[in-house]
Amino acid sequence: MATVSLVLVGLCGIILSAPAAPQVEAARDVLYCASCGEQITGEYVSALGKYWHPEHFVCANCRTPLAEATFYEKDGRPYCQSCYEDLFLPHCCICGRPIRSAYIENVWGDVYCKKHEHEFQTCFSCGRLICGSLTGGGLTHDDGRHMCSLCGRTAVYRVEDGEVVLDEVRRAMKVLGLDLRSASIPLRMVSLEDLREGRARDLSGHISTSVWTRGGKVTERKIEAVSILYGLPREHFAAVAAHELMHAWLFLENYPELPLHVEEGLAELSSYLWLQQLGTPEAAYRMRAMESNDDPVYGYGLRLALKSCRQVPLDKLLGYIKRQRRFPVEVQQGVEIERRL
Ligand SMILES: [Zn+2]
Ligand SMILES: [Zn+2]
Ligand SMILES: [Zn+2]
Ligand SMILES: [Zn+2]
Ligand SMILES: [Zn+2]
Repeated sequence: MATVSLVLVGLCGIILSAPAAPQVEAARDVLYCASCGEQITGEYVSALGKYWHPEHFVCANCRTPLAEATFYEKDGRPYCQSCYEDLFLPHCCICGRPIRSAYIENVWGDVYCKKHEHEFQTCFSCGRLICGSLTGGGLTHDDGRHMCSLCGRTAVYRVEDGEVVLDEVRRAMKVLGLDLRSASIPLRMVSLEDLREGRARDLSGHISTSVWTRGGKVTERKIEAVSILYGLPREHFAAVAAHELMHAWLFLENYPELPLHVEEGLAELSSYLWLQQLGTPEAAYRMRAMESNDDPVYGYGLRLALKSCRQVPLDKLLGYIKRQRRFPVEVQQGVEIERRL
């Protein structure tokens, strides 16, 4: 008289053991209790393919009698509902309760009930929900950006601190052959409104340039400033700096005007290469977001740049782009076109 124990896959992907009902009957043959080993006379419970004295069929954890109740099975042992949920279901990182229905696992490995998704603000930099248990809270910048406390730990606000990061990125770019030489590049810390007012194409930074001429001839190409959002966590700030400094390099190296996706694709590539050598979880998160960006300028441009980079060294690729104003790899109407250099 075995009971049926089903295994169901829950909505959320959790394996839930379906509750089963024990069968209580009068003993006819010689039966032995699976718990105490003594012979059973009178009533017995048949469950999990075994026989039990009704008073010995109890929750394996809290010893609550289960002869009259539904029970959950795990590794051949019976559990009451609350012990089963406490012991074997994943618990929500936010409310601490066992997760019984739809849940979310973010890229940082936090698992929480789906319902919390709209209860908290999302960090503009790392995408985590801003709450005490996940991030230790957070803050809102004056321009409306919500940032979690984890990102806040390394946030860059002052020009002096930003300049240190900018120098670090310049040195790393030089190693890649993107030498900005002795060019003076003043840093400005700006807000989201400043970027919008300046009609900046990039959402986190901007580069302003000027070309000086005399008698119709160019005498100097100058970077007036690189503007970067204040209050970005250090690794995010550096990624934006690497992007903007690529624009600066293309300008100083006298590149012709490039199609938008080529120019921004190269700038994103510079940012991507910086993050790649960092090798931190934050860098990996940002790289994934950039690679999967469905923007036809930034995302598409970066994917072409990465594909091209896998085929030719960076210096050759840059030389090709300066001459041809396009990537050696392009995708037209879903078809990948590859040009030999
Ligand atoms: Zn017994
Ligand atoms: Zn129990
Ligand atoms: Zn929860
Ligand atoms: Zn964050
Ligand atoms: Zn850009």
